[in-house]
Amino acid sequence: MNQTAPVEKARRPLMALDTVLADLLARVVPIDTTETLATVQADGRVLAEDLVSALHVPPQDNSAMDGYAVRVADVTEAGVVLPISQRVAAGHAAVVLQPGTCARIFTGAPVPPGADAIVMQEDTREVGGDLHAVHIDAVPRAGQWVRQAGEDVTRGAVVLRCGTRLGATSLGLAAGIGRAQLRVFARPRVALFSTGDELVMPGDVPPEQMKPGTIYNSNRFFLRVLLERLGCEVSDLGIVPDRRDLTLAALKSAADHHDLILTSGGVSVGEEDHIKPAVQALGSLDLWQVAMKPGKPFAYGTVRRDAGAGADAAKPCHFMGLPGNPVSSFVTFLLLVRPFLLKLQGAEAALWQATLRPLRVPAHFDLPRADRRREFLRVRRNAQGGLELFPNQNSGVLTSTVWADGLVDNPAGATIAHGDLVDYLPLAELLA
Ligand code: AMP
Ligand code: MG
Repeated sequence: MNQTAPVEKARRPLMALDTVLADLLARVVPIDTTETLATVQADGRVLAEDLVSALHVPPQDNSAMDGYAVRVADVTEAGVVLPISQRVAAGHAAVVLQPGTCARIFTGAPVPPGADAIVMQEDTREVGGDLHAVHIDAVPRAGQWVRQAGEDVTRGAVVLRCGTRLGATSLGLAAGIGRAQLRVFARPRVALFSTGDELVMPGDVPPEQMKPGTIYNSNRFFLRVLLERLGCEVSDLGIVPDRRDLTLAALKSAADHHDLILTSGGVSVGEEDHIKPAVQALGSLDLWQVAMKPGKPFAYGTVRRDAGAGADAAKPCHFMGLPGNPVSSFVTFLLLVRPFLLKLQGAEAALWQATLRPLRVPAHFDLPRADRRREFLRVRRNAQGGLELFPNQNSGVLTSTVWADGLVDNPAGATIAHGDLVDYLPLAELLA
């Protein structure tokens, strides 16, 4: 095997982020295995079926207020007195409303057949101490305070499409049509490891005993959390030592039982590391210089599987190498790995084709020096609705990502003056 792979020597042109993303997405064949889960356990997973409602929601017309159900024709003027002919509480059935009477009714209770409006309690008065009749003090409109049967969901409607990423509200909706279980796509299986001889795991060495030149491994923690939030099953392989044989062994064994091997570190130009030649030896590797800041170096490749990998043996395992600088790792994950994993687990195209949906927000800062690369600046919204810039945009400064609530997507060569409208990407959307 070449000691120095040719790809390391060649000076690679910068590629546009959109081109790299399109290329990556073109390589994804979505997972087709599914599993059935209890609805309550399906948070963050991708729905593998269209959910069709077998009933109207709400199932019947019901009251939006505590008050009285009436026939509008019986209340032509304020002050009419109507005898109370029935009492309907939520969860109980109503009978036909006798003309010239009203029904005491509570929020969520079915509207009695024949009644066509609800008068809220506040618009009524008791008749003396008589609990059997009320003054109706406001003339109701037909349909007033009635929640129509099916106003949320009609019977036969598709409430959630195959490919929906499930979350709190969609799971509530699924439960609302009576679904206790849902079919979802299998989780992508991701093997995660960090490279770099300078890395130490927190907990292994206390801060005061850290040797010169060593740093704690922070990438492992946020990458793992990001992967898990995306619905992946993560095998955390920790730090793989800087040795050819161990790197080969780690890649080889991970490939058999994973859909993706994700690493951080060691993909910069000219770096003497073992990841690149090892991936090349076990499959193929493309190294990209992405025209973005932070996050220039990025590697994609495939690692062959053993015959022992069963049904998966014919397909190679995906490999992605992120840069080591924490902010570069974070941003390339959000902009490249995230859409890749969404497509891999069967999410609808809208979720991975247009992951960047910027808002136009005024900058409350100046960026007098333009970068030749498209830049993703760490910013935060202020109380005036403008954006403030984190003072240190260095790709090693993870503090910026904690402080920030979004990224400004700034085109190559563009300067920013206070008050300019810029493209703001809320992190809340990218971290979901
Ligand atoms: P590399 O991409 O390997 O050249 O690393 C670039 C920079 O990121 C170096 O300063 C590394 O020490 C740092 N780095 C690499 N991996 C990690 C990690 N897992 N956690 C924190 N910093 C890292
Ligand atoms: Mg390194």
